[in-house]
Amino acid sequence: MNAEQLNVGRTSSDSRVLYAAITLMVTSILVLACEIAGHIWPRDDVADLLSWMRIGAGLVGLFALAAGAPLALREMGDRRRYAAEATATRRQVETLFQMTDMLQSALGYDDANAVLRATATELLVSFGGALYVFNNSRDRLDLSASWDWPENSLPPETISPAHCWALKRGKPHVNHVGAGALRCEHLAPALLILEIPMMARGEVYGLLCIQSGGANAQARLADIASLAAAVADAMSLALSNIALREKLRTQALRDPLTGLYNRRYMEDILERSANLAERSGGALSVVMIDLDHFKLLNDEHGHALGDAVLREVASAIVGAIRPCDVACRYGGEELLVILPDCSLDDAVLKADVLRARIESLSENHGCRVTASFGVATIPDSSSTVGDILPAADAALYRAKQDGRNRVAAAAHRKDTPIAQLATAAE
Ligand code: GH3
Ligand code: MG
Ligand code: MG
Repeated sequence: MNAEQLNVGRTSSDSRVLYAAITLMVTSILVLACEIAGHIWPRDDVADLLSWMRIGAGLVGLFALAAGAPLALREMGDRRRYAAEATATRRQVETLFQMTDMLQSALGYDDANAVLRATATELLVSFGGALYVFNNSRDRLDLSASWDWPENSLPPETISPAHCWALKRGKPHVNHVGAGALRCEHLAPALLILEIPMMARGEVYGLLCIQSGGANAQARLADIASLAAAVADAMSLALSNIALREKLRTQALRDPLTGLYNRRYMEDILERSANLAERSGGALSVVMIDLDHFKLLNDEHGHALGDAVLREVASAIVGAIRPCDVACRYGGEELLVILPDCSLDDAVLKADVLRARIESLSENHGCRVTASFGVATIPDSSSTVGDILPAADAALYRAKQDGRNRVAAAAHRKDTPIAQLATAAE
């Protein structure tokens, strides 16, 4: 029954209760009038007539009462129910406002997940939930949070957008249970699940899944569908803000062409790594890389190919270093790799691996791609963060002078305790 039908039904029952009340009032007045008339005209014939009139009024009154009372009782029950529903709706709206307010202060996905989980467990009581968010390359959705999901069939860790009907249609989709139901491939077959795409500013940011089980699972899910959609709407705006913030942060840290860290970030990291190395007494190496005859490559094959080579060189380097190493674009066709906890000798070996990898790119592009390398290390060749880059640069200059496509290392310091011991032994 929709709101309009409900109102029409309520108006007709309201008027019937009103007629019954008016009839009761009129019959009561009539009985009273008969009583008064009996006192004014104390005659037997009048008394008989008045008595019949009282009986008639009583019967009409009783009939009106019988007809009106159940309606009035039902009306009272309905009003109490509507009042309870209105209170529940007001509470839901307040909770949604609170959620939106809290999401404004969410600093990242973890914060947003915590807010969503708290809101969903308050508003969507006894339903399971799972939130999926697109990964950076937007080819997959990763499980970001889940709650109250049946333990024997937990939500999948990742979802492919091509397998999800809600994402393909851009609309909420109910995965019904049973043969013939149109279900997403990633879901366990026995679960009734509502999937809602989370969209903001025309872009999909994630997927909210609500799972319903137990008695009347389908009816209960239908009851909360619009509330779940409101939760998803509030959440998707927050997800879009977080994604935007993340993008800005990445842009501030990364070079757009190669995806490597930029020079500003490199300077911070180098300073921090040097401090750490100083405190722990470990080594810190840097490898400065400069592509050979890159101007010529641009001139002969075009700038677009030059850009493609730079990108491939960057991924060849990233693919060969440890997660704790940091590769940056130092400027133009110069790159720099920071290798924490790595001695000068090990850094030279690593630089030679990178050199071979870059040289092997020549086959892909039909032109010669090589690079020269300069390696320096604290404490082996340099004493402070201030002289490690000039030392690597000087070594790189030597590699260029010696014929390019080679690795040169900065000279060992003479003032290190090990070097002094070696000199003493001589
Ligand atoms: P060398 O072996 O001595 O290093 O010679 P080189 O030609 O590499 O050095 P040079 O400094 O003369 O030229 C660097 C070239 O790198 C010039 C510039 O056009 C090119 N370059 C710098 N940044 C980019 C870029 O983002 N894309 C492309 N395609 N080329 C770039
Ligand atoms: Mg250069
Ligand atoms: Mg160069």
